[in-house]
Amino acid sequence: MTWRPKPPPATELTRPQYEGYACCWCGTSLWQGGLSVGIARGCIGAHVMDVEVYACGWKCPKRPRRPKTSATGREHRASSGGGRSASSP
Ligand SMILES: [Zn+2]
Repeated sequence: MTWRPKPPPATELTRPQYEGYACCWCGTSLWQGGLSVGIARGCIGAHVMDVEVYACGWKCPKRPRRPKTSATGREHRASSGGGRSASSP
């Protein structure tokens, strides 16, 4: 359960977002401090734009949702009822 949404590309950030003053997803000013959500990556020409970005919190309304992995949604069930015999007296 350590999935975390990836920050947007560095090239799509506004200047406040790029400089860490605004939430990288919803743009809220982080005057109370932000939550580091990783490195936004990107480059313009030869200039690498990688920068650590911040969000207003993990409950940011614009935060990307965790993708559902229904394809691999297999549950490992402990065999239930194993060894239980329906023997009546
Ligand atoms: Zn936000």
